[in-house]
Amino acid sequence: MSDLDELRKQALADAAIDTLAVRAGQARSAEGEHSEALYLTSSYVFDSAEQAAARFGGDEPGNVYSRYTNPTVRTLEERIAAMEGTESAVATASGMAAILSTCVALLKSGDHIVCSRSVFGTTTVLFTKYLARFGVTTTFVDPVDFVAWEQAFTADTRLVFVETPSNPLCDVVDLQRLADLTHKHNALFVVDNCFCTPALQLPVKFGADLIVHSATKYIDGQGRCLGGLVAGPKHLVDEVLGFIRSAGPTMSAFNAWVFLKGLETLRLRMDAHSASAQALAEWLNDHPQVEKVYYAGLPDHPGHELAARQQRGFGGVLSFCVKGGREQAWQVINKTRIMSLTANLGDAKTTIVHPATTTHGRLSDEQKMASGISENLIRVAVGLEDVADLKADLARGLTAIA
Ligand SMILES: *Cc1c(COP(=O)(O)O)cnc(C)c1O
Repeated sequence: MSDLDELRKQALADAAIDTLAVRAGQARSAEGEHSEALYLTSSYVFDSAEQAAARFGGDEPGNVYSRYTNPTVRTLEERIAAMEGTESAVATASGMAAILSTCVALLKSGDHIVCSRSVFGTTTVLFTKYLARFGVTTTFVDPVDFVAWEQAFTADTRLVFVETPSNPLCDVVDLQRLADLTHKHNALFVVDNCFCTPALQLPVKFGADLIVHSATKYIDGQGRCLGGLVAGPKHLVDEVLGFIRSAGPTMSAFNAWVFLKGLETLRLRMDAHSASAQALAEWLNDHPQVEKVYYAGLPDHPGHELAARQQRGFGGVLSFCVKGGREQAWQVINKTRIMSLTANLGDAKTTIVHPATTTHGRLSDEQKMASGISENLIRVAVGLEDVADLKADLARGLTAIA
């Protein structure tokens, strides 16, 4: 790193998150490029056999092979660590690769996970079907029930995993309280911060040990690339990095470059997603064909005050129950013309989905009932279109079921 790069890095040490999102982690090459350089190379050349030996032996820092390090990926890792307020971060091929790598690197056979019941569906599959095969067991609990959290710990509990706000009902989990409980039991507290991103929530401020991300969602923000991140203290991230280097779920340099561009506008987008979701939630709340709206930005949501303290904004995802059942919910979805019928979220394009028959379709009827995934529930991940057009898009179906 040049002296000027070092001075630039020092100037960012106390910078605000908006500045970090645009600037952190960039080290310009000799070409003086303004935008971050995209290093599409699988390997790196050495000046001499002596240097090659030193690099391979770890006696000299520097690039060897892009499964280990890549300058574009490194820029993204440093930028996310700066934004989340952690010492270090490592990028992965997808959000699931981030969760898998965290678990494999830090757990062993016989260890126990306590996990929120309201986490991404594939996370549940990973824990129950695959980690279980290797002797790691998981207990799932209602994320707002602290008696249940407390009772779920065993002598073998090593890791607590949570998402807040939850998908799709926007349950808000008290991160500080759960961090304290987790640390009392000498376990690691892992927060999937995909829904808020560091623009709206900084879990380390409330005691999280590790933050995992699906960069696929809001960090990209325009639905192009798959990626994941793990952020935390260096000694833990290094363990995860060690697994990634050996197992190979590395982030591609091209995807890292796309995510760097995404981060530059993250705050602006998260504020816009939040403002539009709030407006849509309020409009739905007053609609005669809507039974209930789930959005933490509404004052009567049980998590409203906690979210207002813990988050900088309420986020872009909301759910609502229409009057009726599956038929009416499907009618509202089928009459949209602007929103995309897809399970993805975190995109400039608004998406709409029927959780009971898609994202949560694998759950048994009892599990759906316990999780509040009813047949008349619809989830909307609000994008960046004009809100008046989104209201009109939903009004078509809501009028039809009246
Ligand atoms: C999408 C998602 C994941 C998985 O991320 P991929 O990039 O699809 O592997 C994990 N957690 C949450 C909350 C998600 O929404």
